[in-house]
Amino acid sequence: MPDNSDNRHVRTKIIATIGPASADPQKLDALCEAGLDVCRINFSHGDHAAHEAVLNTIRSVGTRRGTPLAVIGDLCGPKIRLGTCGLPLALAPGARVALVPGGAPCTTTRLSVSYPHLADEVLPGHRVLIDDGLVRLVVRERRDDALECEVVAGGVVSSRKGVNLPDSTLSVPALTQKDLLDLDWALTHGVDYIALSFVRQAEDLYELRRQIKARGHATPVIVKIEKPEALEHLDELIESSDAVLVARGDLGVETDLWRVPVVQKDIVARCRRVGVPVIVATQMLQTMIDNPIPTRAEVSDVANAVFDQADAVMLSGETAVGQYPVEAVTMMNRIVAATGQFLAASPPFDPPPSVAVHYRPTAAVAHAAVQAARDLGVRLVAVWSATGTTVRMVAKYRLPMPILGLTCDEHVQRQMNLLYGVIPVRVPPLDHPAAMVRTLDALVLERRLAAPGDVIVVVTSTRPTVAGATDTALVHRVGAEGVSPLAGV
Ligand code: ATP
Ligand code: MG
Ligand code: MG
Repeated sequence: MPDNSDNRHVRTKIIATIGPASADPQKLDALCEAGLDVCRINFSHGDHAAHEAVLNTIRSVGTRRGTPLAVIGDLCGPKIRLGTCGLPLALAPGARVALVPGGAPCTTTRLSVSYPHLADEVLPGHRVLIDDGLVRLVVRERRDDALECEVVAGGVVSSRKGVNLPDSTLSVPALTQKDLLDLDWALTHGVDYIALSFVRQAEDLYELRRQIKARGHATPVIVKIEKPEALEHLDELIESSDAVLVARGDLGVETDLWRVPVVQKDIVARCRRVGVPVIVATQMLQTMIDNPIPTRAEVSDVANAVFDQADAVMLSGETAVGQYPVEAVTMMNRIVAATGQFLAASPPFDPPPSVAVHYRPTAAVAHAAVQAARDLGVRLVAVWSATGTTVRMVAKYRLPMPILGLTCDEHVQRQMNLLYGVIPVRVPPLDHPAAMVRTLDALVLERRLAAPGDVIVVVTSTRPTVAGATDTALVHRVGAEGVSPLAGV
């Protein structure tokens, strides 16, 4: 049986937010070298010209390196933010500060907030939390259009920091005018995933899907879980999304901070059960914004997400604006590798029951293939997938060997780079399983993923051009003539 214990391909994927600290080609190249798989462009910061420059750099670095870097365009949703600050502002505990709607420059006595109905919907006694809850105010009284607040927990605030109003009932739409403009940009520029912030109910997601479809696209959607209302509709949200992101920054402000770890475990487990990719995000190596070395607690936090077998872990400010973006990705990759090796050496994880409602035949064939791969201890499982769904169905079992995700669509190829343990490869269109096996032999030998004579498992279809028609799992000896069918549904 081959030794997969040091297999660098079987691992949790790494996402980095790209910003001023990481957007130049050399930096991005270094991030890829350090283990980056997916880039996030956050529409909360920077304009379309800046995003375009970032996207062009990502595409050229990805092409040059032969890395299928996926790009997530992260829509702000109804996120409320401070206006601009010039210099950072220190707010002392006990001080009084007025909040006004709009985008006027902020001062220590007057902060502008990007929410027009502020004075009507935020009431005396309500909390106002700035920068993921770092600075806390409470509203004392309303004066015309302004809210007089007292600083409860002081600190420094700066431009465009997020503002959470967890006690107030707000009449915000799921998608703002800005989101629709950003969506136009993202779709016309061929972004691979669209993420939506502050989702409250499945209808918010359906609305985004309608907008994507109306623009002639079918880009997959990542639902960011960060509102208490989303927790009330978790199963429906997970089942109707293409991927889920545990957005712990806002989640830790909108709900009780101390509940974040259990909420994270719960969401990751639910996603894994139904085979929906799941990302753990925010403050994973936060102190690396200013330091070359993280805290022990941060290292444990990243490892914890790997123990949960999330598909991906994400960096935010660490790579967007931090002083040590390359060191942060390097550190994350080391934690992912070390923890992954430990996991691989432990008893195999009990696979979640195969309960997919929408893709039952695909899920059953995927399950049969996974069983065969385990029984035979194969080098790799190769999965043909027109849309990525079959690869997801196999990846959800978190196999100890790599999954070769084969597709002829370049978007699907990049989208698969988010998935646990998946090596995405683009292949020419195939008309039959035998053609696939021939293509595979050349591919795995060239990439040294297996040697002649090694046994691999292949998941494919007798009608490869039809989406959702996965019907074949077979066992194949690399370099051997012919194929022996294992299972067909
Ligand atoms: P979200 O809630 O969507 O995560 P965020 O404000 O927390 O929004 P992150 O992408 O998590 O944004 O980045 C963390 C911090 O890094 C931001 O608050 C901001 O100060 C800074 N930042 C991120 N991207 C950029 C950018 N492109 N330009 C300037 N500053 C940025
Ligand atoms: Mg957020
Ligand atoms: Mg954030």
